[in-house]
Amino acid sequence: MFSKVQRCARFQFFKVYENGNFKRCGSTYGRPDFTKNTYNVSRGYYNYLQEDHIRFFQRLLGEKRVIMDLSDLEKYNVDWYIQVRGCSSIVLKPKTTDEVSKILSFCEKNRLAVCPQGGNTGVVGGAVPVFDEIILSTELMNQIISLDETLGVMVCEAGCVLENLDNHLADRGLTVPLDLGSKGSCQIGGNVSTNAGGMRLIRYGNMHGNILGLEVVKANGEIIDCLSTLKKDNTGYHLKHLFIGAEGTLGVVTKVAFHCPPRPKYRSVAFLGLQDFHKALKTFRKAKEELGEILSAVEVMDIPTMNFIKEKNNQQSPIGNYPFYLMIEISGSNESHDSEKLHSFLDSCMSSNLILTGTVATDPTKLNAIWRIREGISEGYKTCGAVFHYDISLPLEHYYTLVDDMRRHMGSRCERVFGYGHLGDGNLHLQIQMKEYSKELKELAEPYIYKRTAELKGSISAEHGMGFMKRRYLDLAKPPSSVSLMRDLKKLFDPNGILNPYKVFP
Ligand SMILES: Cc1cc2nc3c(=O)[nH]c(=O)nc-3n(C[C@H](O)[C@H](O)[C@H](O)COP(=O)(O)OP(=O)(O)OC[C@H]3O[C@@H](n4cnc5c(N)ncnc54)[C@H](O)[C@@H]3O)c2cc1C
Repeated sequence: MFSKVQRCARFQFFKVYENGNFKRCGSTYGRPDFTKNTYNVSRGYYNYLQEDHIRFFQRLLGEKRVIMDLSDLEKYNVDWYIQVRGCSSIVLKPKTTDEVSKILSFCEKNRLAVCPQGGNTGVVGGAVPVFDEIILSTELMNQIISLDETLGVMVCEAGCVLENLDNHLADRGLTVPLDLGSKGSCQIGGNVSTNAGGMRLIRYGNMHGNILGLEVVKANGEIIDCLSTLKKDNTGYHLKHLFIGAEGTLGVVTKVAFHCPPRPKYRSVAFLGLQDFHKALKTFRKAKEELGEILSAVEVMDIPTMNFIKEKNNQQSPIGNYPFYLMIEISGSNESHDSEKLHSFLDSCMSSNLILTGTVATDPTKLNAIWRIREGISEGYKTCGAVFHYDISLPLEHYYTLVDDMRRHMGSRCERVFGYGHLGDGNLHLQIQMKEYSKELKELAEPYIYKRTAELKGSISAEHGMGFMKRRYLDLAKPPSSVSLMRDLKKLFDPNGILNPYKVFP
């Protein structure tokens, strides 16, 4: 599995604070332009950073944890997909909840906007500033606080990297209940704030089910202690759920208590070739019925996705070319039982003509090689002209309808439309690839894709959130009464709107 997410350093045009002045340094080449220019957004009524503000932060954190150097700022201002770019001139790196509280209370009093940032692997532009918001990075809040091995409950700080937590748990026969391609960089606080899904959601459920407690700092600096480690706790409202998926707009998550299931002792993945999507659906249903409790992932991809992988990542399909591919993973605690179940399921799929061919990997090296095909797709985006990404939830009967619709709609104006995703959760990743970024093509694709998703009774964000990129379409995703209640909650938690402005809400 690939780990540390690499980010291109193609941008050298930032406003920096130097000797008491803001200066523009360097020059821009490549994408993206500043978000504020590309998307024509107006800056909110916030104060600009002053020298006395900087002095306060330096007194609180020390100079080393107040980042203002141009080259250091770059990676915090640009998102992983290199699609949005802020112009913040300061990154703050608190180490404790108390420091986060003092920063936010100061920012609230001085009307300074703040952008919370975890691993910055978010793909909807939520984790980078739109203008000059202060970036509050949880990078140094990376301590494990406790682990109850019997109950399977870990408490840790928000900045712990997901893969590091999993490695710690592996030695104790436990695992984290989610698995993302970005696990080498994303942080648990970011996972909570995006309600991250990933490959094993079919097995362990989403963050709402796995998070037992949270500690959160509100915009005014007040610390909300909901850090329960109990599996059952029905004492009033479950406030933690408000912060799961809030994308840093209601508070900064500082500590997390979560459920750690037992680590499977045996894992196996089948990579299958199929004739059409209808058969993929039938195979999925059969897998649920016959594999039951050992089923841990069901991923689908179409042949254009495989062609993309071949061209951009130089990886081959291990079974040749087929219109559709399914990856079905099982994991459990009894090798002979689990393997027998898988093989009898595959035999039955073959004899009923659901699948055309397939290969099964159990050996860790082969198994990882197969997963790398799927996890490496987004790596390919870096070397192709441009790709528009859409993360959609759909009723299963319409899962592939949207890909066909978009292909028709875009016609020959784009290079390729392809679809893959977490079939087990009805989550499609639809991609439109073109030679180079084109505003015209963007306008052709949007809002059509979101309107069509709404018609098909889907959701315009399955697991990535609304961030900056999708906020304009919130009204398509939720009825007016829900959006209005969301706005009321935002006002209650953050009356001056200093937390992650320009995100989630249109
Ligand atoms: C290669 C790759 C594969 C991916 N695969 C998946 C996948 O399978 N499933 C999936 O769901 N996502 C996936 N993602 C998206 C991303 O990794 C997730 O959204 C992840 O949960 C973000 O975590 P992060 O720490 O990087 O958060 P960031 O990107 O830093 O932040 C994301 C949002 O959360 C807010 N935030 C971050 N930390 C905090 C905090 N402590 N308190 C309050 N707000 C905070 C930010 O302001 C922002 O709005 C993938 C991304 C990449 C690059």
